Amino acid sequence: MTGHSETDRHARMMQALHAFGKRQRKGDPATPPIVSSVKFNLPGDPEAPFVYGRYGTPTLEATEAALGALEGAPVIGFPSGMAAVTAALFSSVKSGDRLLLPSDGYFAVRALIAEFLEILGVKADYVPTPALSTHSLGGYSLVWVETPSNPGLDICDLQRLASRTKLAGIPLIADNTTATPFLQPVLDLGADISICSDTKAVSGHGDALFGHVASRNEGFMARVRAWRKMSGSTPGPWESFLVQRGLQTLDVRLQRMCTNAKAVAELASNHAKIRNVRYPGLETDPCNALAAQQMSDFGFLVGLTFSDAATAEQFIEHTASIYPSTSFGAVHTSGERRARWGDAVPEGYVRLSVGCEPTSHLLRSLKDSLDAL
Ligand SMILES: *Cc1c(COP(=O)(O)O)cnc(C)c1O
Repeated sequence: MTGHSETDRHARMMQALHAFGKRQRKGDPATPPIVSSVKFNLPGDPEAPFVYGRYGTPTLEATEAALGALEGAPVIGFPSGMAAVTAALFSSVKSGDRLLLPSDGYFAVRALIAEFLEILGVKADYVPTPALSTHSLGGYSLVWVETPSNPGLDICDLQRLASRTKLAGIPLIADNTTATPFLQPVLDLGADISICSDTKAVSGHGDALFGHVASRNEGFMARVRAWRKMSGSTPGPWESFLVQRGLQTLDVRLQRMCTNAKAVAELASNHAKIRNVRYPGLETDPCNALAAQQMSDFGFLVGLTFSDAATAEQFIEHTASIYPSTSFGAVHTSGERRARWGDAVPEGYVRLSVGCEPTSHLLRSLKDSLDAL
């Protein structure tokens, strides 16, 4: 696996874990205080580290430092993944631009463009995730990629795509929510801008909405910061605290989640009740080689296709170890049938977010439930 070397991602994790403590003085707290004050002592000249809560707070700054260590780049936090998506788009596009995006990525991105950007004169074309890396870039001002794609788990060759967007002189934005910056260093693989919904695996406990934008392009980041300040899209201190707390265990949680996901995918591949399994870590998966090339593990999302919607719903409902819900990346396994939202997947397609449960118990619970279908 060459996504990033084990040394690199572990060095970044070390830095994320010590980002806060190393800056403290004698007598300071070991964890970032939750500072809820929106006002900061500001007599005279208004130059100060903190000015007003909408511009940033000490709690948010500590979280951004930890996320920045993981990304290996400056980070700006947002109150949700979609707020980060919105900031990246509105900081980059202008009337008359044409964007190239995946047709099978997170649905709200397409909805945002259709309802709010197209009326401002921005056009968008959509192609399937695997086809993005070879699609002609003529006439486009920006390319968006999401890999593995949510919910279908297809993969795009990031290095190939990035080398072509560089040649074309246009920015590449990568939504890295499903893999996380720990498993897939999209900026090192060539993307100009990294987006992540930290609501998912990065915070990891299903109790905080948060997102971030990361980039080494200073001009772009200045615009994103201005967007946040003017649009007022600033995360609160409590969510900021939960994200920095959660990301400290990202490495160990992902180890268990990826191990469990692989075991679940293998169990499902050999089960008569399942028509198809998507997991980039299965050697039989069409995206396996590409995933191995750019990810340091294969993630925790597994796509299971049952014969029909009713069988899929029965599986979700009758499995004690599956919490029926949307969203993913928490410590408990959860699942949902994505066609219920209109995603372009088969009616019987279940996106399973595999959690940190003890492996043998999780497998037994899933096998019992599949056998009973
Ligand atoms: C969930 C998700 C988002 C949006 O994140 P929120 O925190 O729910 O706003 C964006 N992209 C992808 C790929 C997602 O899965």
